Amino acid sequence: MTFHCKNYDINADKCNKLKGDCIPGRRGCVLEGRVKISSELQKKINELEKGKSE
Ligand code: SF4
Repeated sequence: MTFHCKNYDINADKCNKLKGDCIPGRRGCVLEGRVKISSELQKKINELEKGKSE
């Protein structure tokens, strides 16, 4: 990761805000809508969203 987010728990490799994986730009993330998401990251987000709706 090339930035520091105050919500990121480096020891657990988790997002404290969302109580889950840190995927910058994911729904609810402080960076949502503020970052340009790479296609690789977008894929991760899509998988996350898909997993939630199932
Ligand atoms: S998902 Fe977003 S809010 Fe959570 S730690 Fe990662 S960058 Fe921060």
